[in-house]
Amino acid sequence: MNADPLHILRSVFGYDHFRAPQEEVIGTLMAGGDALVLMPTGGGKSLCFQIPAIARSGTGVVVSPLIALMHDQVAALTQAGVRAAFLNSTLTPEETRAIETRLLRGDLDLLYVSPERLMLERTLDLLARATLALFAIDEAHCVSQWGHDFRPEYIQLSVLHQRFPHVPRIALTATADEPTRREIVARLGLEDARVFISSFDRPNIRYRISQSGDGASARDQLLRFIRAEHAGDSGIVYCLSRKRVNEIAAWLATKGLTALPYHAGLAAEVRAANQSHFLNEEGVIIVATIAFGMGIDKPNVRFVAHLNLPKSVEAYYQETGRAGRDGLPADAWMVYGLQDVITLRQMLEAGVSDDAHKRVERHKLDAMLGLCELTTCRRQALLTYFGEDLSKPCGNCDTCLEPPEVWDATVLAQKALSCAHRTGQKFGVNYLIDVLLGKSNDRIRHFGHDRLTTYGIGKELGINEWRGVFRQLISRGLLTVDLEGHGGLRLSDLSRPVLRGEELLMLRRDALPERSKKVKTVRAVRAAFFQDADRRLWEALRVRRLELAREQGVPPYVVFHDTTLAEMVEHRPRTLKELAHISGVGERKLAAYGADFIDVIRAMTGESGKPEHINPDS
Ligand code: ADP
Ligand code: ZN
Repeated sequence: MNADPLHILRSVFGYDHFRAPQEEVIGTLMAGGDALVLMPTGGGKSLCFQIPAIARSGTGVVVSPLIALMHDQVAALTQAGVRAAFLNSTLTPEETRAIETRLLRGDLDLLYVSPERLMLERTLDLLARATLALFAIDEAHCVSQWGHDFRPEYIQLSVLHQRFPHVPRIALTATADEPTRREIVARLGLEDARVFISSFDRPNIRYRISQSGDGASARDQLLRFIRAEHAGDSGIVYCLSRKRVNEIAAWLATKGLTALPYHAGLAAEVRAANQSHFLNEEGVIIVATIAFGMGIDKPNVRFVAHLNLPKSVEAYYQETGRAGRDGLPADAWMVYGLQDVITLRQMLEAGVSDDAHKRVERHKLDAMLGLCELTTCRRQALLTYFGEDLSKPCGNCDTCLEPPEVWDATVLAQKALSCAHRTGQKFGVNYLIDVLLGKSNDRIRHFGHDRLTTYGIGKELGINEWRGVFRQLISRGLLTVDLEGHGGLRLSDLSRPVLRGEELLMLRRDALPERSKKVKTVRAVRAAFFQDADRRLWEALRVRRLELAREQGVPPYVVFHDTTLAEMVEHRPRTLKELAHISGVGERKLAAYGADFIDVIRAMTGESGKPEHINPDS
């Protein structure tokens, strides 16, 4: 094969241009150097090691922590005509031997291995006898002991450098923060590596965070969101607990949606079946705890919904980043309420971590809550958090599209705070609201709180509005939640300037959950994209793709991505030569599927698709 990277990009993968910084990364490896690549999900990390592995002589060894991911990548590479395989525990001894033979014969461009497999003396010996093009260490943040994906075997990967000093290495991750980056460099011995940091912006994702009443109302909001904006789409719904996952999945199913649960409490076969359904069929919704998602590189996840608050901005960004990897419009949608804020605060304080860890966790949670209560552009805040600047508001998040109102809540906050103070700082939100509203019940009379000066002084707001005020006071740390499990609210030092009237408190007015009709939904944006194109053609192409995928037992996006089908709709290629210009159509796929798709295009656009019309030179 012609070993020029650009030629490989075009002929094998069917893409015209490199994205920044792919070309430079590839150049570094081609010249024998090491690289550390930090790029957001969907940025195009894989080609950074796949192309030099194909271009250099010998095999590129890819360390990947997840078996599902390996299978997916090997299937996709095989479809593109690349000689790729994996070594992991799912293979029989015969299959393993066959792959080892291919490796030694120089018959593999890429070999995927799990870290524990790689570290076996036997595997290292095998690699020592083969010609190696490079080592790629995917999901390199797994080396970080502070992160949520820590994998002890990753730490041992430093031996690669000692055992194979002349083989170039590339480490890749979508985790952006500085401490993780430093840890990767130190632990993998990448001091000499060139570092490539891309922008972490995901402009096609629309961030939306709104308030819910608790429980059932969040569920209803979710259903309305899916029905109105994502009917027939694939998506992920995150919940905090297994119980809630089961309940939401079952409930969505009663509403006629294909929704499947995924969490660590399900049998391995059930989990695998549900995941494979999600990958292989169109329009499946997975309801999951955060355990689901890493290593899922399904490109056309159209929405990620959170029915709970993530514990940190990092987690939120990683989870929402699973939407829209293909670059087409996608939604990151979340609802949360007062109870979520209380629960997370309590879980953190009651957790087993030592004080130093708790301080870090508290700081992270504060940043997450700050993002939620924000009244300015969410994307700007997100990128700032990751040390990046976005000079203008993005225009594609809820606060940009429908700027929330802020109001001077100083006096109301004073009422709420003094009510907590006068009742002894041991009562929860519901009780305090009852006192503020001047409700008369046994408990209030029992404690004599109907004689307090704060009794009945809050009648200008209703219960839900008061809950909004308390949520924001707790989010901002003016009130803290006690640990005894009763949810008693205490005043923090931050509340004093507000109580004394030295500081104004501006709060956001909670928007109604229904979005106004003015704003174009992501679905409408996509519909406009297809304005004059034939929706029926799009559907027909998807049907053909699904058939071809099923015949081979691979996910549809391994045949062609949605973006490739969308280009077919737009340009309506009628010959193989025209089809070859569509992005994502490489030589092997052109040969394997070209005629199928041209048939569909011709049939749908009023011309019979006789094979004799399909002439590569026409
Ligand atoms: P990551 O691993 O960084 O999340 P991928 O490597 O899966 O991202 O790439 C994301 C998507 O972008 C894939 O659909 C991939 O085929 C596509 N892609 C990558 N590089 C290019 C390119 N140069 N031109 C067009 N599409 C690309
Ligand atoms: Zn914005």
